[in-house]
Amino acid sequence: MALDHESIGQVVARALDAFASASSTSELKDARLAHLGDRSALAAASKEIGSLPGPERKDAGQRLGAARAEVTAALAARQAEVEAAELERVLAEERIDVTLPVELVPQGAQHPITALMDQLSDVFVAMGWEIAEGPEVEGEWLNFDALNIGPDHPARGTSDTLFVEPIENHLLLRTHTSPVQIRSLLDRPLPVYVVCPGRTYRADEFDATHVPVFHQIEGLCVDKGISLAHLKGTLDHLARSMFGQDITTRMRPHYFPFTEPSAEVDLQCFVCHGASVGDPDNPCRTCRSQGWIEWGGCGVVNPRVLAACGIDTDVYSGFAFGMGIERTLMFRNNAADMRDMVEGDVRFSRSLKGVAR
Ligand SMILES: [Zn+2]
Repeated sequence: MALDHESIGQVVARALDAFASASSTSELKDARLAHLGDRSALAAASKEIGSLPGPERKDAGQRLGAARAEVTAALAARQAEVEAAELERVLAEERIDVTLPVELVPQGAQHPITALMDQLSDVFVAMGWEIAEGPEVEGEWLNFDALNIGPDHPARGTSDTLFVEPIENHLLLRTHTSPVQIRSLLDRPLPVYVVCPGRTYRADEFDATHVPVFHQIEGLCVDKGISLAHLKGTLDHLARSMFGQDITTRMRPHYFPFTEPSAEVDLQCFVCHGASVGDPDNPCRTCRSQGWIEWGGCGVVNPRVLAACGIDTDVYSGFAFGMGIERTLMFRNNAADMRDMVEGDVRFSRSLKGVAR
């Protein structure tokens, strides 16, 4: 390349043209490499300068320097234009109209059964009790024999209990969470204070008030000097924690093989507090104007149960209680149909969201 005025002018003109026609930063980058890079005409001209005689060298150097300055300035100016245009385009393309209606991802809800079991368990955890869990497929001995339920007891029939085949293996779907109490007594050092929330199975019909899969929470305390008074205090505390500070419980004599004496637990009606009894003008739906609601069973642990777990019944005694979670949810939250609790419709869970907590 001749370093004369005219040819340098052409080099500059070509570079300015290329920059002007570049419409993106990547095109401009290509143009910069072509016209200012190591293999550009300007770079080649710079190498030639060294071979010129002194006076010409100075002159050519000045012209080349001016040309390079012009090209560099043009590049910088075009760079600013292209970047501004690109930013403008991105802002326009990615503009979000925050006023447009959006489809929200529907939120799930914790199942009311789970929420209620957690809430009941929390009352006991706050008192230092432990949560105990066990398998849902259980050994027959743990589910029945250890709990003083003899071989001829009607609950052990196949019409009430779901056995796992082959039947000679003596495995069944646990009919209550009580085998977890036995496991706790076998596994843990005394004293034992556990609550056992969980799923249980019985060969029941599936209708508004029966489901073959349901939930219980049971509590067990075995310590020195435990009496029925400790049981009553514990049940009253549970009732107050769940239903209000003025709510109490009562016990009605009953029979269970695994407790002696045994009682059914009634909860004082937390809606009418008994005011509906004998007042036909103000009936109470929650307690059917009885003043009390059947809640569960309880009693002093039968010494035979403790003995089956190898515990010295002269030193230790205990109490146990249990209630159905579905039943509690029914009277507590006016859930009339148990089938709603197993069908998994999120609208049911959502309708009790916040109520159960
Ligand atoms: Zn009532």
